[in-house]
Amino acid sequence: MPYKDIEKRREHQRIYAKQHKDKITKYQKRYRIKHRQAFNEYMKRWRNKHKELYTSYLLKNKEAKRRKRLAIRLEIISLLGEKCVKCGYEKNIRALQIDHVNNDGYIERRKLKNSDRLYKHILKQVKNGSKNYQVLCANCNIIKKYKCLDTIIEFPLFNIKKEWYYFILS
Ligand SMILES: [Zn+2]
Repeated sequence: MPYKDIEKRREHQRIYAKQHKDKITKYQKRYRIKHRQAFNEYMKRWRNKHKELYTSYLLKNKEAKRRKRLAIRLEIISLLGEKCVKCGYEKNIRALQIDHVNNDGYIERRKLKNSDRLYKHILKQVKNGSKNYQVLCANCNIIKKYKCLDTIIEFPLFNIKKEWYYFILS
C-alpha cells in the first residue's frame, strides 16, 4: 500500500530499512559486485562532489579502525597473560608487545598485508590455543630482535659499524 504523503512514506522506508538491515546489506553487496564498474564511477563522482564530507567520513572511519585495532591488541595481550614472559614486566600495558616466538612475523605480515588483518589473525590463533605468540616488554623484544639479527649477519661484510646493520635491516 503506497503512501501518498511523502513524510509517511519516508517514515515507512526508515522502519523497513531498520527491520531488514541484513537483507538490504546483502542486496547492496550483490549489486555492487554485479555493477562494479558503474558503481566505482558513481562513487568517484560522489567523492569529487562531496570532498569535505568524504574527508570527514574517512577521518571518522580511521579513528574507529584505530580503536578497534587497539581493542583487539589488548584482548590478545590479556589472553597471553598481560606480562613479559622474560622479565615479568607488567606495570604499563603500553610497553607490552606481541612477539612471534619463532621470529617469523615478517612472513605473516607479508601474507596478510595490513595490521588489521594481522591482529585479527593473531587473535584467532591465540583463541585456538596457538603457542606461536608471546608477550614481551619493549626492552626484551628489542633485545631478542637484535640477538636474532646477530646470528643472521656475518661481520664484517662492509667496513661499517655493527649498529648500522641493525639500522638497515630493522
Ligand atoms: Zn621484559
